[in-house]
Amino acid sequence: MFTFIRHCLFLLLLCLVSEPAFSIPMQVRFNDVEYDMTVSIDPVNRALIGKSIITVKHPRELQLMLGAAFEVTQAISNDGPMGIGREASNQPHVWNIPVAFRQQVQFVIHWQGSLAPLDTSLDHQQTLGRPIAVSGQAGTFLPDGSNWYPRVVGHLVRYKINIELPAGQKGLVAGKLIEEKESQQGYQASFEFPDPTEGIDLMAGPYVVETQKYEGVKNRAIQLRTYFHPQISDLSRDYLASVKRYLDKYESWIGEYPYTEFSIVSSPTPTGFGMPTLTYLGIDVLKLPFIRDTSLGHEILHNWWGNGVYPDYQHGNWSEGLTTFMADYAYKEQESDEAAREMRLGWLRDFAALQSGQDTPLAAFTLRTHGASKIVGYNKAAMFFFMLRDQLGEAVFQRAVQGLWNTRRFRITSWQDIQKVFEIISGQHLDAFFTQWLNRSGAPFIVINEAKSIGTESGYQLAITLQQSEPAYAVRVPIAIESEQGVHIHRLDLQQAQQNFTLTLPERPLSVSLDPDWRLFRQLASDEVPPILREVMVNSATQTVILPHQEEARRVAEMLASKLQDRTPQIISPTQQISTTAPVLVIGLQPDVDTWLANQQLSARPDEVKGKGSAQAWTTSRPQGGSLAIVSTQDVAAMEDLLRPLPHYGKQSYIVFEGRQVVEKGIWQIPMQKVTVK
Ligand SMILES: [Zn+2]
Repeated sequence: MFTFIRHCLFLLLLCLVSEPAFSIPMQVRFNDVEYDMTVSIDPVNRALIGKSIITVKHPRELQLMLGAAFEVTQAISNDGPMGIGREASNQPHVWNIPVAFRQQVQFVIHWQGSLAPLDTSLDHQQTLGRPIAVSGQAGTFLPDGSNWYPRVVGHLVRYKINIELPAGQKGLVAGKLIEEKESQQGYQASFEFPDPTEGIDLMAGPYVVETQKYEGVKNRAIQLRTYFHPQISDLSRDYLASVKRYLDKYESWIGEYPYTEFSIVSSPTPTGFGMPTLTYLGIDVLKLPFIRDTSLGHEILHNWWGNGVYPDYQHGNWSEGLTTFMADYAYKEQESDEAAREMRLGWLRDFAALQSGQDTPLAAFTLRTHGASKIVGYNKAAMFFFMLRDQLGEAVFQRAVQGLWNTRRFRITSWQDIQKVFEIISGQHLDAFFTQWLNRSGAPFIVINEAKSIGTESGYQLAITLQQSEPAYAVRVPIAIESEQGVHIHRLDLQQAQQNFTLTLPERPLSVSLDPDWRLFRQLASDEVPPILREVMVNSATQTVILPHQEEARRVAEMLASKLQDRTPQIISPTQQISTTAPVLVIGLQPDVDTWLANQQLSARPDEVKGKGSAQAWTTSRPQGGSLAIVSTQDVAAMEDLLRPLPHYGKQSYIVFEGRQVVEKGIWQIPMQKVTVK
């Protein structure tokens, strides 16, 4: 079956949102297909009635399809009646149109049906997993993947659509708003999408609409709107101000915004979708204060990458990587060098935590279906663009990004097409770079084997030997050389499994460190990975030690353990000497925790948490391998206070709570790969 993909919303903190789990288009051809449609929806009775005139110019073989939930009341083409396209009422309607040479062919299809009830208890994953057309007073969502309208299979399309709704409801689809009428009889709006696009999603609800104008580059008017449920309509102005800020940024960075409107639409379910000209976000998501500064920008940028330049899904989806790099990551760079460095380290750390078999080549990523695919499809891909910028320099990279936009707008674009644009603009051969990062899974594991220096008449000669796993990658390895005068970064072009480099330096080198700012996508050594709380949460081999004996405390501790691990914990006895290398989670009251640590001959409570707050959690590595996470509280109430918040802080190495409030948190400093110069 053929359906198109909508872009994800990237809300890491919420774990709400990911890519829709729709199927992937097998073949997308640009053919001249146009829909002219009228749809009436009655949300109270969940009824839809539609009429579509489908025009195909220069037709080749065609297939038309409509979902099984609908009745066809009339279907005719230039050649006469077409039948209803199915034999049994539980089948989708499918019409196979034979090839016939002519200038154009037209189909007129009338259809109707009842929509599934809106179920606001569904979470985002469930909404994604079932592209079903739903309707109710609080909201209607007809996702493209539900086949809610008769479609020509496998083609980009242009469309015009007229939406009719009862009074009090408003609705929209992606595209330009042509006309809008509201009266006591009802609401009616016409939209047009004049460029070839992937499909149609329709949204409606009891919206309060706020409209503002924005003047884009070349003085082009862009209409900005919020379609918000009444209970959040006071958020409109702040959201519209943020949209302006992002349009400004991306127009000057990439080029003209490709559409005449952008809308933010609220959804009664906790979902998140990005489509051309709009984003559809859960009411509760929109209430979160950080969404404006993170996910909103990511979604707006998808109007360029993903919904403006289309990925060639068969050969890999590059759009999430480029969007993550130019949105989520770019915001960190604006914040500070330190914040950007932390994000890169986070990517490498997550990659290091992948278990064998979870890693795939970047070119195989099509859309996000689970956490591991995000680590490759978003993070590794974002790091790919980061390394490409490092290689080409900021100015050339910037011109290439603009070139990509100018030449590939509204066209299906593969990784190879991107390579071509970057090669033309940079004048460099990038085949080796693209091939090694896209077609290979894994990452190079690089170490400094040796560093020796000898004094010469003019200064010092430093000989460094680098070694990497085979088959070798070609990488520019940043090396920090420390002398009494300070630290200088040098870049070494490593191409072989083992390679010697000689540098002439004015000062005596004391130590060398490998890639101290995490600018290379590489496999971290185990001592380069700081333990974080997430390990005991996600690793299914984790063993749990519950220290309290008293019944109530024990019950809360067990509840906390299962909340953290999202499964029934494997509990081992506190008196048992820990021998496993699997991660271990320990939960207890303060004095018991201290005694247990001493009995196990483990290091005592670290200074970062000692004596602070009502509850503390921290991680440590055990001498025999394996990580340990300890949760220590002053009393049972303080333990109970952790039930809701603590599971959200998996990224941290340590955290201190006062009641439910976080008062301190952080990631352990990790030792870099540092070698003393001999
Ligand atoms: Zn995305």
